[in-house]
Amino acid sequence: MSFGFQSKYTQNLKSYLAFKMLFAGVLGLLKFVFMLVFLYFYKALTRFHMMSRFINVLFCCLLCCSLMTSTSEAQQADSAVIKQFFNSELASGSSYGNLEKLCKGVGNRLSGSANAEKAVLWAQKTMTELHPDTVYLQEVMVPHWVRGKTEQASIEVNGQAPTAVSILALGGSIATPAEGLVAQVIEIHALSELELLGDKVKGKIVFFNRPMDPQEILVFDAYGKAVDQRWAGPSEAAKFGAVGSICRSMTTATDDFPHTGAMKYKDSIPQIPCCAISTMGADRLSAMLKKNADLMFRFTQSCSKLPDVKSYNVVAEIRGSLHPDRFIVAGGHLDSWDVGEGAHDDGAGVVQSMEIIRLFRDAGIRPKNTIRIVAFMNEENGLKGGRKYAELAKNKNEKHLCAIETDAGAFSPRGLSMDGNDTLRSLIRSWKPLLEPYGLYDFEREGGGADISPLKDQQVPVFELMPDSQRYFNYHHTNKDVFEAIDRRELELCAAAMASLVYLLDQYDWK
Ligand SMILES: [Zn+2]
Repeated sequence: MSFGFQSKYTQNLKSYLAFKMLFAGVLGLLKFVFMLVFLYFYKALTRFHMMSRFINVLFCCLLCCSLMTSTSEAQQADSAVIKQFFNSELASGSSYGNLEKLCKGVGNRLSGSANAEKAVLWAQKTMTELHPDTVYLQEVMVPHWVRGKTEQASIEVNGQAPTAVSILALGGSIATPAEGLVAQVIEIHALSELELLGDKVKGKIVFFNRPMDPQEILVFDAYGKAVDQRWAGPSEAAKFGAVGSICRSMTTATDDFPHTGAMKYKDSIPQIPCCAISTMGADRLSAMLKKNADLMFRFTQSCSKLPDVKSYNVVAEIRGSLHPDRFIVAGGHLDSWDVGEGAHDDGAGVVQSMEIIRLFRDAGIRPKNTIRIVAFMNEENGLKGGRKYAELAKNKNEKHLCAIETDAGAFSPRGLSMDGNDTLRSLIRSWKPLLEPYGLYDFEREGGGADISPLKDQQVPVFELMPDSQRYFNYHHTNKDVFEAIDRRELELCAAAMASLVYLLDQYDWK
């Protein structure tokens, strides 16, 4: 069945919109005739010098009134559509049920794993059942890193029983020797300290222990300021002769759940094993180091890198009525880390994006431009899916109007960040009255999502939905990121917000 206008739920909205359009059309025609008549008399009257200033002012006022009336009519129609999206999603949305099927039926799904392939089939089937115009796969080669079964760590002090601490290997790390890596620990808080320590780092395990800044209100900002320790720390430490590295987990929570995540080995620098330690473990290690700087840290992990594997982005399209060859992309990433169930990161983003298809269909809305819903593969440890999408778009010379990603958890939507020009920023600001009733108020931040960043390199404006950030890093890349951690209502608010933003981006001709 193709994407259509058959929904029984939307007759009222459609009638309302049809009436609005007819009314606006008749009114527009009357205004046009009035202007012509007015211009005729204006020309005649301005021949009399004294009348000319008065007539000029009157003319400007009438023109402004006319434009304001048109804007308010357009906004009323937009407001009705957005209300329909939120009403429909909160009363009978399918995003929550879909997320449950992904989390419980497939589970976590790191690129290259059997679960990632199950997720591709799931996404293809689920998108098809939402009846867009077409669903297809984009082939892409992705890395295949495997965590291995063994992961343990302990702090060892002479004459005392070892103190066990919770770790997770960082994604991409090499394994330790089978019996574990044992060495003294050197604690630092910034990569720049390595230079000062120089030779003292040799033969040690470097412990990066700078917490995420609790004073940052947007927690993504705190993450951005701390994550260099995880991403670049291992190679920077190895440069000075370190044999291993430990990174304090990227969270403001104090608990015993380590947070994994990507790291990058630099070419030409020896690779060393690296892991994330829970914040409680980090605090304990730091306290014990203060009492005994010679303590030993032992960790064992058996991860490995296998050859690349063929995988897929999953794409659905709602074809545009006016410009089928112009594209608006909306998506999230289908892969997740290999712990938890990838519920917030980013199963939520995938089901929110898919829901746009249902919401448009049930509201009887056929977009002007083609909407592409994309479930990207391999955001977490390679971005190969995002790069492949942009590469194909470029090769086919496709005209992309913009792209919007949702990859920041299923928490109440608060706004939209963007990388684009000032005209677009002004347009987005003008939507504030439409979106504020649903809790979206922040349209000032910079930034788009990771998967669509390769499109940004092709000068495509990019956006990212900004949910409330306060709790996201309690779950990010941990065993806690499971379906039970999702609030149905907040997930649905994000889905309706995505549909609303895509609708507005499609309606307004800013290109
Ligand atoms: Zn993500």
